[in-house]
Amino acid sequence: LKATSRKLKGSELMSKGIITVLQDVTEQEKLEHHRKEFVANVSHELRTPLTTLKSYLEALEDGAVTDPEIAPRFVRVTLNETERMIRLVTDLLQLSRLDSKKGELRKTSVHIGQLLTDAIERFSVQFEQKRMKVEMDLPTWMPFIQADRDGITQVIDNVLSNAVKYSYPDTTLKVKVQTVQETIQIEMEDQGVGIPKRDLTRIFERFYRVDKARSREMGGTGLGLSIAREIISAHQGEIKLESEVQQGTKVTITLPID
Ligand code: ADP
Repeated sequence: LKATSRKLKGSELMSKGIITVLQDVTEQEKLEHHRKEFVANVSHELRTPLTTLKSYLEALEDGAVTDPEIAPRFVRVTLNETERMIRLVTDLLQLSRLDSKKGELRKTSVHIGQLLTDAIERFSVQFEQKRMKVEMDLPTWMPFIQADRDGITQVIDNVLSNAVKYSYPDTTLKVKVQTVQETIQIEMEDQGVGIPKRDLTRIFERFYRVDKARSREMGGTGLGLSIAREIISAHQGEIKLESEVQQGTKVTITLPID
């Protein structure tokens, strides 16, 4: 930098150029750091279920396979772990598609109320298992919006699946839709474990979880909310979370009408 600034002495314009270059390097380093962190995370997330699989398969090979009580339990564990790995790889593929094809949405006319009603129906068994009630508050009329149906469905599914995972049993999930100025606002509010304030700002980061063990136990991949944010931003919308520990979490999604 010293040598360069001597050469450029007196040129204010050029010294501004140098500052820009330095910022670029910092930005590049940050990106590189994130990339390395991401690869490390992916490897770790895949290694954990693989290690579990290996130990259970070894136990089966060592004789557990002939034990009529243990064998089915061990097979169930290996199946669960395999399913989680499939979910993880599916989520990763989706993130990589979103990364490489930013903005390429297949937009059609979408009725948000209908998508929500269908989604709640799909989750009905899971709600019942937790004895959860769903309260829907939909306006009698709402405009269709131009949106990617599969994308928005995936966002709703990710949020509802979290609501089920992190809600206390015997609670109520409130789902509300309203039009606010030129936008449609969807609120999904659960009565669950909530998220501590210090974690709220990081919750959309890839693989960030408040409680890793709990998320894994629930079959989570730590990617649901980052996928949701990518899809909503591609629609020029917004997704935000408000939460109170041991009280619940409210997810608000805002989508432009036009
Ligand atoms: P996961 O697969 O772990 O659920 P997400 O990206 O969907 O990953 O969510 C990230 C983390 O945010 C979760 O691990 C959990 O700690 C927290 N979280 C998300 N939604 C809720 C919710 N409704 N209530 C409490 N915690 C939540």
